[in-house]
Amino acid sequence: MNGTGSSFRPARRIEELGVSEILQITAHAAARKREGRPVVILGAGEPDFDTPDHIKEAAIAAIRRGETKYTALDGSPEMKRAIRDKFRRENELDFAQNEVTAAAGAKQILYNAMMASLNEGDEVVIPTPCWTSYFDIVRIAGGVPVAVPCGAETGFRLTPEALEAAITPKTRWLLVNSPSNPTGSAYGEEHYRPLIEVLHRHPHVWLMVDDMYEHIVYDGFRFVTPVALDPSLKNRSLTVNGVSKAYAMTGWRLGYAGGPAALIAGMAVVQSQSTSCPSSVTQAASIAALDGPQDFLASRRESFAARRNLVVDALNAIPGLSCRTPEGAFYTFASCEGLLGRRAPDGRTLRTDREFCAYLLDAVDVAVVPGAAFGLSGYFRISYATSHEELRQALDRIAQACSLLTEGHTA
Ligand code: PLP
Repeated sequence: MNGTGSSFRPARRIEELGVSEILQITAHAAARKREGRPVVILGAGEPDFDTPDHIKEAAIAAIRRGETKYTALDGSPEMKRAIRDKFRRENELDFAQNEVTAAAGAKQILYNAMMASLNEGDEVVIPTPCWTSYFDIVRIAGGVPVAVPCGAETGFRLTPEALEAAITPKTRWLLVNSPSNPTGSAYGEEHYRPLIEVLHRHPHVWLMVDDMYEHIVYDGFRFVTPVALDPSLKNRSLTVNGVSKAYAMTGWRLGYAGGPAALIAGMAVVQSQSTSCPSSVTQAASIAALDGPQDFLASRRESFAARRNLVVDALNAIPGLSCRTPEGAFYTFASCEGLLGRRAPDGRTLRTDREFCAYLLDAVDVAVVPGAAFGLSGYFRISYATSHEELRQALDRIAQACSLLTEGHTA
């Protein structure tokens, strides 16, 4: 029974799951803002840029042409052609038409893949900290997420030793995300090769890679995707991507993937009984995104890089905080461990990253997300996909809030 007196009884598969902590924090911060407080929210997982005009125009033209009906289930032939071209052009990956799929976001792609492949108790190895949805998608599909802690000492990357130790006869997938949400860490060829060697020793383990932030990398970092490095992995890998982050299209909802035909067909079965095809209009926009000019990505990257530098430098200048310089995405993942145990002016002792983040919101109206939400305590994530001005303001306020903390007495 819930508080409204309803007799609703949740299914076991969702009993233990809650709404994402990021959404809860953002909602709480937004409510404070509505009350008139000058809240800066650094929690959003989306670019602050607008969708480029040529993409919008393609959608409008599609509507005018009457492309407003169902399309083929997991992407129109033209959508699949654009996906195959993208994989060939940017990743040197050759997929056949029945080896690619499109869905309403990369999130749905991941969901379809887990639903199509996991049986009760199957394990998915997930380097952690990780995007919050991975664990619950695996759980809903009946699987068991196996978190492998990857700390700052390895640049938040999975090591071959840790992978080897995590694999059991029940392991179905290794799920890797590079560049990563929440750390911004990315795997270069030198990081992937040793992991691939481990996978060769365990042919029952499949590889799912989430390349959502492929285009958001800095300082000349060379993005690579594992199947391009070792094509022998192709028959047991799913390479996931989407238009949300690269093209500032989070609201349009289109993700895509390439993988073995049998897996892609299984994913289509799941999709056929949930959402059917992705929006026809969104597919037209996404084809324009993938086929169209890519030069604007460079200037957006530069803009993100400037903001990354601003945030990393400002965080590292605050005594008690420390932040690694990320290779990609638009997040920093800074340690606040140096400040835990300190006391706030209102008397409370900040024992955890969650308490530290709650203090920032209460004391200086800055909303950030605790590392615990991503599976690694002692850290907090900033999304710097917001204006320089807001970032400067927020960082000044964080510095001020940190300076007010005093050596605490643990109560
Ligand atoms: N993968 C990662 C690592 C993400 O951070 C996100 C969104 O935040 C997604 C996938 C989902 O993207 P989409 O909007 O395509 O569902």
